[in-house]
Amino acid sequence: MPTLSLLDHEWIPVRHFNGQISKIKPSQLIDETIFDLAYFRPDFQGAAYQFLIGLLQTACYPKNNDEWLDYWDEGIPQSQLDKAFEQIKPAMQFGATKPAFMQDFTPLNGNKVPISGLLVEAPGENALKRNTDHFIKRDFVKAICPHCAVMALFTLQTNAPAGGQGHRVSLRGGGPITTLIMPELNSPTPLWKKLWLNVVPLNDDEKPQRYDETVFPWLNKTITSEPPKNLSVYPEQANFCQAFWGMPRRIELDFDNITQGNCDLCGEESSELISHYQTKNYGVQYQNWRHPLSPYRTDSKTGAPIAIKGQPGGLIYRDWLGMVTTNDDNQPAQVVNAHDYRDLESTEEYHLWCFGYDFENMKARCWYEHNFPVYPIFADPDSDIKELIALALEFSKDTLPILRKALASINKQSSSVDIAYWKETEIPFYEFVKQLIDEKDNPNGRFHLLLGWTNTLLKYITQIYDKAAFSDPDQQMINSEKISTREKLLKDFNKLKNIKKIKNNKPS
Ligand SMILES: [Zn+2]
Repeated sequence: MPTLSLLDHEWIPVRHFNGQISKIKPSQLIDETIFDLAYFRPDFQGAAYQFLIGLLQTACYPKNNDEWLDYWDEGIPQSQLDKAFEQIKPAMQFGATKPAFMQDFTPLNGNKVPISGLLVEAPGENALKRNTDHFIKRDFVKAICPHCAVMALFTLQTNAPAGGQGHRVSLRGGGPITTLIMPELNSPTPLWKKLWLNVVPLNDDEKPQRYDETVFPWLNKTITSEPPKNLSVYPEQANFCQAFWGMPRRIELDFDNITQGNCDLCGEESSELISHYQTKNYGVQYQNWRHPLSPYRTDSKTGAPIAIKGQPGGLIYRDWLGMVTTNDDNQPAQVVNAHDYRDLESTEEYHLWCFGYDFENMKARCWYEHNFPVYPIFADPDSDIKELIALALEFSKDTLPILRKALASINKQSSSVDIAYWKETEIPFYEFVKQLIDEKDNPNGRFHLLLGWTNTLLKYITQIYDKAAFSDPDQQMINSEKISTREKLLKDFNKLKNIKKIKNNKPS
């Protein structure tokens, strides 16, 4: 296969405002008629956003906030973008000739594995042996086109879960949550602005000095991590922008045995279908990195930053505050802080698009996506609104176990109770938050809103309990027991420490 330049070739599917789908090369991203990317898999869509943000962040970054704002208002001139991308052309070649995009610099001479292994939901080697891949038809994806192969490779390197001995996890660990600042849902914002919202100014230490292996690790021999040395790559040993181009997996696609036919992922016809690749363990082991698009918590023992991962149950408002504000345990993504300091017109609304896999060891259990609101007031150091919302959230967390306990004592416990609780109280929660922000300077209004929130939750848990206890025609338990459990539920609720805290907040 001849080498494909990922900067000159039109390979990224996009959707225009008029509904038309086309493929573009990266420098066409500033076309104002483009509305969004148009990938057919949500993980590719999220990865492609990061790929394009990464290109801008690496080659066309603003030096400060003012410069960021100038581009936001005036647009990025085509000639400037072309010039910026020209500098990184050698890193964006894809094909048999090395260096090749996100593939190992050295010939691997390893075992050939089917191309389906690049896809995150594909069963690992162990699952194939044990035949435990019930959910994924491993025979379905046999050959893919080069356009899909690039994105599959980028998606894997960006999210890599633990993959068995020495198969390293992504720079943010296995299955990080990515959070992107987005304009108001359904607003007619062109793609380039959605990307630019997620590019942060770089200081002198963060700017790439050279576009070499300190940014793009495939441009030289991989810094491998075999025992006993288990070498790691720390941020100080590379450039900040490598966060976008991490290469934990040593991979070499098989370009020698290409075939003709339809791609098993996108369906398009290609004369260069790829069906196998080689891989070797002990690729780059990343430590202590902070990716600008992910929220982090601090490890209480080591003090190391740990990117927030997908959890069973998905992304829910329980997790929201830690993604948009800093507290003792969490720091939002750098891009969220950068957004807070941009003096964008307050009439425009923004939200946080969060997504990622939930991995259980090597297997993807689920792909999650969620949109959270972003409020400018969170950036105001003089406002205590964050603390009040944190109190309300803590209250939501404390209330759920009471419901669970009551349901368990009448033998009605179920794993779906938790998920339903968070999903069904989410809309009322955001309504409460909105009203709280409106009443931010009114002590009396704030007090009644907080009290109102506790009543909302009380109403919810009693409704759920009553439905479980009294609507079942097969009466196994006498009603008096159910009634006393209900009384206990109310008593437990009123004993919650945060109920007292909220009531004590009453303005005098
Ligand atoms: Zn394809």
